[in-house]
Amino acid sequence: DINAPLIVVSNRLPFVLQRLKDGSLIRKNSAGGLVTAVAPVVIDCKGIWIGWSGLYDLGPDESIPEADPLDKAPTSGLKSSQVIPVNIDKEDFEDYYNGCCNGTFWPLFHSMPDRAVFNADTWKSYCKVNEEFANCTLDALRNVIKDLDAEGKTNVVPVVWIHDYQLLVAATTIRQKCEEENLRCKLGFFLHIPFPSWDIMRLFPWDDQILQGILAYDFVGFHIEDYCLNFIDCCCRRLGSRVDRNNMLVELAGRTVHVKALPIGIPFERFVQLAQNAPENLNDKNLKVILGVDRLDYTKGLVHRIKAFERLLEKHPEYCEKVTFLQISVPSRTDVLEYKALKDEMDQLVGRINGRFSKPHWSPIRYIFGCIAQEELAALYRDSAIALVTPLRDGMNLVAKEYVACQIREPGVLILSPFAGAGGMMHEALLVNPYELDAAANVLHRALCMPLDERELRMSQLRHREQQLDVNHWMNSFLSSMGALDNDDDSDP
Ligand code: UDP
Repeated sequence: DINAPLIVVSNRLPFVLQRLKDGSLIRKNSAGGLVTAVAPVVIDCKGIWIGWSGLYDLGPDESIPEADPLDKAPTSGLKSSQVIPVNIDKEDFEDYYNGCCNGTFWPLFHSMPDRAVFNADTWKSYCKVNEEFANCTLDALRNVIKDLDAEGKTNVVPVVWIHDYQLLVAATTIRQKCEEENLRCKLGFFLHIPFPSWDIMRLFPWDDQILQGILAYDFVGFHIEDYCLNFIDCCCRRLGSRVDRNNMLVELAGRTVHVKALPIGIPFERFVQLAQNAPENLNDKNLKVILGVDRLDYTKGLVHRIKAFERLLEKHPEYCEKVTFLQISVPSRTDVLEYKALKDEMDQLVGRINGRFSKPHWSPIRYIFGCIAQEELAALYRDSAIALVTPLRDGMNLVAKEYVACQIREPGVLILSPFAGAGGMMHEALLVNPYELDAAANVLHRALCMPLDERELRMSQLRHREQQLDVNHWMNSFLSSMGALDNDDDSDP
């Protein structure tokens, strides 16, 4: 039942809290596509959002402030009673978040195991924090069921939708308590990053607990079919689960878990509007811009990308003073050593290449280490001749989709890595292996020379797909898949 009460659980709330000097609290909104799509549904169904508030010192009885009456953010209709902050001890949070989530799962799930740290203490904190999220969810669920029962809606089953790699094992506790207390609910999970192959997953010392934790959900969504099949394969090989790869079912201890590929989209129309309203570009019209937009993360292939651009200038000096590469690198996880090292490497590389090729009135690379508001980003997307989206591995990659949404004038070209989830679906992009610097330089040359009619054809097909498969479509598909689950599922893998 798509109208069943919805409890959304994510590492962070859809807004973070900030404490002002006088001790009072305010909401700081976040602009992500997920929040834009999911918040209105939670508001409509009088649902609940559970997550970390961003503060360590939030008192247990301190209430969440209501939204400012003038606030137009998608979360502004969320009443404070619909938001439940999970309070976590600072040390535990750091071990869980910086340690296990970002030090272990992030590199491992992006198939970069050499960067992953395996540590029993951070894993313990991860399990503990997952249990705290589970207990908050259970409290909310008990209240939701009590209200439903009081209204005589005893056959309405609440839906719990848990997000991402920070909460892989939260359902273990939820399912156990639900069985003990006879609480009714459907447990759904969506992973926003890749799911690795068995060869990689088996490196994690507690892989069985992760897989069993995920199998405590009723329904598990991944971006693409490859991630689904990786997960099913891991269950089969590590746990000996019976599986049905055609129907994407996994059985464990008499329960059947449904697995499905649900590629996330973007708020397409919002980006079109942003592009329509964005300020005019003051760039020289004869200068073509190649655009890169990423968090500064080793999965994004930034070093390879810059080197590929250098290769282009070596092979085609005619592009000097005609083309510029604009890279926006958003600071991310700046207290983790690997990210500091990457920043230093990028700073050096950009400096070296600019020193090598610059002219008095032109530099090959413009490099911004900072965050740009989406209004401004939309203008860059709209006016760039090429978007260079070449991650070494990426769950989906929204930048590729936002670029095509904003291409409302003379179309440019999207260059995309096949190792991003988006690479499997955006067939009209030019695909290139980011590790092959020569091939990447050649594809840049091809994109810079591409005739208008070919660019129009490719871009209109790319735009049409993203418009159809936008973030609302994704969310509705997830919720209707959950709705279609039979409560006493007896489907046989
Ligand atoms: N983004 C932004 N400002 C910036 C750079 C990026 O708001 O200066 C946003 C961008 O619009 C996109 C998101 O950050 O929605 C990046 O999502 P993606 O899936 O590409 O990568 P992630 O950072 O989630 O790995």
